[in-house]
Parts: sequence; structure tokens; C-alpha cells
Amino acid sequence: RIVYVNGRFVPYEEATISIMDRGFLFGDGIYEVSAVVNGRLVDNEAHLARLDRSLGEIGIRNPHDAAGWTRLEEDLVARNGLTEGLVYMEVTRGVHERDFPFPPAEVAPTVVMFTQAKTILASPLAERGAKVITVEDLRWKRRDIKSVALLAQVLAKQQAAAAGVAEAWMHEDGLVTEGGSSTAFIITEDGRIVTRPLSTALLPGITRRAVMRLAEENGLTVEERAFTVEEALSAAEAFYTSASAFVMPVTEIDGTRVGGGQPGPLTRRLRGLYLEMAGAG
Ligand code: PMP
Repeated sequence: RIVYVNGRFVPYEEATISIMDRGFLFGDGIYEVSAVVNGRLVDNEAHLARLDRSLGEIGIRNPHDAAGWTRLEEDLVARNGLTEGLVYMEVTRGVHERDFPFPPAEVAPTVVMFTQAKTILASPLAERGAKVITVEDLRWKRRDIKSVALLAQVLAKQQAAAAGVAEAWMHEDGLVTEGGSSTAFIITEDGRIVTRPLSTALLPGITRRAVMRLAEENGLTVEERAFTVEEALSAAEAFYTSASAFVMPVTEIDGTRVGGGQPGPLTRRLRGLYLEMAGAG
């Protein structure tokens, strides 16, 4: 397994980062994840644009332009012979003696990249549908930034794992914000696809955007509004999206069956459209 660290491709076992790295000490860094299907990156330009935006929001210099990132990603995919899975990218504010304010400008950001093989297309979970639990959203107020400080999501997703379910949907003031690592959607009885509008309360999901576009191109109605946990429990269908899950049907929320406990027809259609877009054919 070959990984990338600060300009070099090295065997995973030889890759090291300083204990003074600000990503390690402060969670002072940004990450991004792109899917790979049939050896090709999925919607990668949008992921790189979000990476650039996240870095800009916290004042870390982006060490590569989109073309540079893409070359590194494609090189890493090739070196690992990856046909299906994920590319993970992380940029931290670099290595400096521990102190809260930013280090001097000459301190270079740390860059780490690795791949993970993962079956995305032929997903048994997507066939039978995922169960989710709801948990309070314990995060900070800039969730639009893809920060590596993920403690609230670690705790939320551990609760989900302990409950034997696939994902935790986080809520605040009774309204669903998003999944621990996904965007939450419901579908109303009259077939409207509902997801929360973008704001600082949630991450602008790249898969969310693609699914919304595909829905609209196919004559489906998308409604951007917040929804309550109660509305989700009585929705006709529910699903979540992410670069690694694509479109994942939800069949149970907090032990209550959604849509008769089967992946819903519109959700299946959206998954199909997304798979097609991702070049799964
Ligand atoms: N929300 C959160 C909190 C996430 O961690 C993710 C996964 N990156 C998403 C939404 C989905 O985003 P994307 O579709 O870009 O993977």
C-alpha cells in the first residue's frame, strides 16, 4: 500500500508525521474524500473546490491547484491499483512548537493522501436499506468547513455502531441537521424530495448537489427546507448521501420503520441515476 506524505509516495509502513503537527495537536486541518469507481474519480472537481474553500475559510494555503491535486490522486490510484474505493486527502496547518495562534507563514502545510479499497456499487446495505438512529448534534457552529476535528461525529457514529445501525442522524432544535458523515433526505407522500438548505449548520455535500441536480433533470421536485425528526419518522421514504455511500436508502429511524421497511422506489431511482453518473455501467 502506497501513501502520499508531503511530496513523496512511500509505503504505508514508512509514512510518518511529526508529533508537533497541528492536525494531531489541535485538529487544525481540512480533509476531503473522493470516490473511485472503475478506476475513475467521481465528481472530483467539486470535491477539490470544496477543499479549496474549506482551506480558505480557516486560512491555510492550498498547496496545490485542482490540476495538481488531480495528478496526485490519479497517481496514487494507479500506484495502488485501486478500481473501487476512496481517496482521502488531508491538509493541516503544519508542524510547529505547540501554540494556539497560527505558526509563521513560512511553515508549510502538511499534506497526506491515501486510498481505501471499498465496495461501493454492489452494496448489500443499499439493497436491504440502512437503519439510523437520531442523536443530538454536539458540533461547533461552522459545520460548512470540512474540518478534521470530528469528535462529535466519532461519538455519534459510535452510538450508531453500538446500536447496530449504519448511521446517526444529528438534530438540533428538533430539526435534522445531517448524518454523521452524510446528508439526510426524506421524501414526502406526494413525492417531494426534501433536504436541508445549505448554511453554516451543515456540510455542503457534493453528493447532495449531484443528486439534487439529477432529480431536477429527471422531473422530480426538490424542496430545500429543514425537517423535524418526527416528519422523518412518518416520511414515505428516507435516504442519505455521501461520496462513500452514494445514495443509501433508510428503512428504519430510531426503531421505527420508514416506507414499510423497504428501500423506496424514488430512492432506488435516484441511486440508479447516481450510479449511472458515476460511470458504474
Ligand atoms: N455531512 C457530513 C458531516 C459529512 O462528513 C459528509 C461526508 N463527507 C457529508 C455530509 C456528505 O458529503 P459528500 O457527499 O461530499 O461526501
